[in-house]
This record gives sequence, structure tokens and C-alpha cells, in this order.
Amino acid sequence: MQVLKFGGSSVANATNISRVLDIVTKAARRDRVALVCSAISGCTDSLLGLARTERGSAERQVMLESLKTRHLDIVRRLFTGVEREAVSEKIESLFGKLAAAPEDEMVTYGELFSTTIIAEKLRCEGFRTKWLDSRILVIKDNPTLTYNNISTAVALEPEVEVFVAPGFIASEYEGKVTTLGRGGSDFSAALYAAALKANRLEIWTDVPGIMTANPKVVPAARTIPEMPYQAALDMATHGAKVLYAPTVQPAMEAGIAIHILNTFEPENPGTVVSALPEPELGEWMGVTSTDDTLQGESLICLVSTGRINGEAACARVEDSLKKAGIKTLACSSDGTNIYATVRLAVAREALNAIHREFFEMAPRTTLNLYIAGKGAVGTALVDLIRNSGDRIAERTGKELRIEAASNDHSFASQVRSIAPRGSIFVDVTDSEDIWREYEGLLREGINIVSSNRRALAVPFVEYAAMHAAAQENGVFLRYETTVGSALPAVESIAAGANTGDELISIEAVVSCTLNRILSEYTLTPCTFAQIVRKAQAEGLTESDPRIDLSGREALRKLLILAREAGVPLEAEDVEIEPVIGPEYAGLTLEEFYSKLEADEPRFAALESAADAAHQRQRFVASLVKDPAGPHGYRAAIRVQNVDASHPAYRIKGTENAIIVRSAYHPYPLLIQGAGEGAILAASSVLNDILK
Ligand code: ASP
Ligand code: MG
Repeated sequence: MQVLKFGGSSVANATNISRVLDIVTKAARRDRVALVCSAISGCTDSLLGLARTERGSAERQVMLESLKTRHLDIVRRLFTGVEREAVSEKIESLFGKLAAAPEDEMVTYGELFSTTIIAEKLRCEGFRTKWLDSRILVIKDNPTLTYNNISTAVALEPEVEVFVAPGFIASEYEGKVTTLGRGGSDFSAALYAAALKANRLEIWTDVPGIMTANPKVVPAARTIPEMPYQAALDMATHGAKVLYAPTVQPAMEAGIAIHILNTFEPENPGTVVSALPEPELGEWMGVTSTDDTLQGESLICLVSTGRINGEAACARVEDSLKKAGIKTLACSSDGTNIYATVRLAVAREALNAIHREFFEMAPRTTLNLYIAGKGAVGTALVDLIRNSGDRIAERTGKELRIEAASNDHSFASQVRSIAPRGSIFVDVTDSEDIWREYEGLLREGINIVSSNRRALAVPFVEYAAMHAAAQENGVFLRYETTVGSALPAVESIAAGANTGDELISIEAVVSCTLNRILSEYTLTPCTFAQIVRKAQAEGLTESDPRIDLSGREALRKLLILAREAGVPLEAEDVEIEPVIGPEYAGLTLEEFYSKLEADEPRFAALESAADAAHQRQRFVASLVKDPAGPHGYRAAIRVQNVDASHPAYRIKGTENAIIVRSAYHPYPLLIQGAGEGAILAASSVLNDILK
């Protein structure tokens, strides 16, 4: 036996009733059916209205007539010939009884009308049908008697294929006709199912199952495929209209699964409510609300399937409401569900906000990271991801997964063969030759984020080939960290080029080491050599400080910026006036320092000349528009004396400044800020990963 229950909107008119008949016909092919129906939609409300009118009044007459017309109209559409006449007569006679019925019984007629029509129709379709009188069989608050009555009545009719019973109506133990409460047809169906030990209880309605919220209030609500009895009961008790709460218990006791299905979308599997094993930790099922119009408040209930951390969940609810600008008046938990009170006027927004937080978590993408280089930046990056991964995932929807981190020389080629497409190869080495792997990685569909400026300051053809590989394979090659660490220098210059800006000049004061050395030289009485030595001791220079002083680091940065601006600059195009000349090459480090010390008068003279002119020495890498230059630009790296009006005049320590003049930026674009530090660099690499 299977029990199928159809609600008011499923039987609202002849068209819908035809759908019901289709569904019942299919079900009857599987097994015997007990069909329980509501009154046609709006009918119960009309009957309650009717009962309030005065007997014999014109108003009552009008109401009766209009209700009768709706039903007779359905009959006219469903039947023809003698059958139409016979069924119409039955309905007419029921309306006659309704007119004479005591006011408190009027409400029980709606289900009589609907089930009479449907039972007759099924009989006409050829089913052996029997109409069951729920007023006799269903005894309110007496399940034992009810079950007995129903099972006996059905046992007497072994031939019947489809039983049809009105929902909602019953009688009291003493015999008086009554109802099971508004929405009570669901409950009737559960009683029939339990009495008949049905193997299936189907509640057919006008939504696709029990949803995570009322879809009329929360458009993003979605069907819950399966849920345990208790959660369904909690949702129904706290405002979910899709299921009448008392329905759950008889089904649960009898162990019958409740299928909530949509008459208008019969193929949708809807929701199955059954005895699921209780999970270790509760899972969020849905959010419902009941309105307290007197208090002007709405009680929101967030239902879970088992034990939850009530305190944490309350905090999350309150936080999601706060983000939506809604004040939580009260919030509590019973260890399974969360109850929050808000003002009635904001209930809709509140339900949507809570639903968003608990049921609309944006799908997360996982980024697989392969990190080359376990130096200071690599270590800081790994720490940063370990410590902030959860917060990052929450903010960006991106889950960072470190697949591997290595110092191994062959790491890049290993990654190329094992990493899935879409992974990110992170180069935080300062390897001279790792760039040879870049193109191959990009061609395998692996993205690259690099802080290794040596890898980008390669001959222009190689640089162009990497970019082409990235573009052709739909992957990215990002290296913001290579110039000015976390300062958005590369990005800003690329943005100008992308939008057709015409570059007039770039002045990049981007050598942390030289900025530090020159600014300190101005401020302290130490010799130039002493300051370089100190910078080296602090780890601020390359292992050989001559690399910094030669301007080679600045050259790499200038190449990167120029190319970003669309100028295919090569190292040979740049005129470099190093701080120290070629005579310093080939010396041991100690010989180098002694020579530098011996050169102090020259450094001192340059410094006092600048000072006398109220200027400061700055190590500037520049690219200036010049039609006579190699690509229409002149590129140079040298110490320049800048006066107080120059943006680089005031920079301190390892601070960087990049000054861009262009057609779009008549006042120079000034990018200035800290340019040094492992954590800063790691944050910039991370930013490239997340962009
Ligand atoms: N017809 C009744 C009502 O509207 C019972 C039901 O639909 O479940 O409340
Ligand atoms: Mg209903």
C-alpha cells in the first residue's frame, strides 16, 4: 500500500486534477493506493467565511453559489454525459447539506467536495475505487482507534485498487465531526499510512520538496534531498509551511519514509524524510521563521540535524545579520537548532542574510601551489598561507593548498610533469636560470607567480616568448614583487599601456640597498665604506655588495618596468653610471672595502656638493621619452641630485619611489612605500596568487 496526498493547489482546478490523476494512475500500476486530498485551494477559507455570515442572508447565498460554481465547473470539465449529470447531482446534494449544516461543521465540506469528484473520476477511468469516510474512521487524538478503523475498513475491500479519503476531517471520540487543524490533510495522510503500514507516503504539493528556506521569501532557497524526521519536524514546527508538523510523528513511529513531491514537476525527486543515522556533528538543514505580529517580531529558526556548537553558531548568525545591517534582538541555541529574534519588518532580509551565510557558501576553488625556493620569502609565504588560509578562503572563495615547496634544482621540471593544469608555480628563488623552465610550465597550463627578477630581466625575445606562452595557454605570469616589492608598480604601468596611455617617463628609485646607503650617508658621520659594510651585515645587500653598487639590480627592475610599458628595452640600451667603477672588479671583498675606504674623499665631495645645493643624492633608474633613443626612449641608471621638489627627495631607508609621467598623468603618478622585507614580499606574491 502507498499513501498519496495532494494539497489544495494540486486539486485547484480541472487541469491540475488531471495531473493528479496521471500521477495516481502511474502509482496504481505499482501498488494499491490510498489517496488523501485537501479541499480545492481557497475553499477552506471560503467555508470559514461562509460560517461567519448570517443564515439566510444574501451574502451567504452569494458565497455559497460562487463556491458551488467553482466545483460544478470542475465537474463539467472532467466529465461528460450521464456521468457529468450524476456527479453534478452529488455535488449539488452536498451543497444542500452544507447550507443546512451547523456553522462549526461547514469547514469540513471542502474535502468532501474534492474527494467526491476525484473518486468519481477514478471510477470512470476504470479503477476499482472506494471512497472512505474520514469522519468515521479518523478519531481525533486517538491513533489506536483510528488505525483500527482504517485497517479494518481497507481489509474489507481486498478488490479495491484506489481508496480515496478526505484529508483534514475527522470526528471526536464522542462522534462529533471535527478537523485536524489547518493544513491537517498531511496529518490525515500520515495516519492512513501508519494504519495501513504503507511502504511509502507521498505528500504532493506545489514546491519541489522541503527547501532550505521558503522560496517565496528567499529566492536562493534550494531543495533538501534528504533529511531526518526530527529536522523535518523542527522546520515544520518553526514555520516551514510545506509540511504540517503533526504529520511527522505517525510516519516516524511506523518507520515510513515521507516523500515531499511537486505535482507540477513530478520527475523532481523532492525531499525524502526518513530515519537517517544521527551524524557526529549536526549539518545545517534550513532556516524558517514564525511571525509574532503582536510583538512585531519574527522568530527565526536555523535547523540542524544534530549536535552543534551553539555559541559559535549564534555568533555566526549574529555576524551575518550585522553584515546585513540587522540587529539581533535575541539569539539562543538548544544544542541542535539556533533561534534568533529580529524585528518583523526586517525578517525577510534577515532570512536571506542567514541563508546566504549558511546555505549559499560560494563554491570554493582550490589553488594548488608549488613553491620553488625555501629562503626568507618562501618561508614567510608558507607561514602566511598556514596562518591566514582560512580567512583568505572565506574572503576570496579561494582555498590555497601547498602541494610542495622545494629548493631542489630540478623542482620546476618535476612540477611541469606532475602538476595538474591550472596549478600555480611560485618562484621565490633568485635563481639565474630557472626562467628556462617558465615557458614549458606555461605551455603545460601551469600559472606562474614570480618574485625572481632575474627570470624576467632576460633578453627581450625570451621575455616575449614567456608572455606568448601564457596567453596562448590561458594561464598567467605575474611578477609584481620583482619591482618595489609589494608596491603596485608593474600593475600600474601595465594598466597605462593596456589603456593606450603614452608614457613620458619613469623614474624608479627602487634599489633598497642604495636608497638605504645614500640616505644614511647623508644623515650619519660614517664613511661610505662603513655604511655599505653595515648594510651588508644587515643582509640588505647581495652577497657581494658590488652587484648593488654596479646598478645591476636596478637594471633588471628598469627592464621589467620598461617592457611592461611596451618598450622592448634590452640591457645594452641602458646607460649605467655605477657608483663604483670597473676598477673594483676582481678584488677580494676585503680589498674592495679598503679601496672603498680609500675613495672616501670622492664620496664625501659628491655628498657635500649635493648638500650645498640643498639637494640629495638618489640612485635613479630612468626611462625618458626621446625620439633619438633606441626605442623612442632614453634609459639611464645613475646617481642624481634631486631637490626638495622631487618626490624621491624625502624617501628614507629602504623606501622605494616610482614616478610615472604620461599623457594620462599630467601630474606624475607617484608610487611610494616600503620596498623591502620578506613578509612584505610574501604578501605581494600572495596577492599575485589571489588576483
Ligand atoms: N483544507 C485544509 C486547509 O486548508 C487542510 C489542508 O489543506 O491540508 O487547512
Ligand atoms: Mg495544505
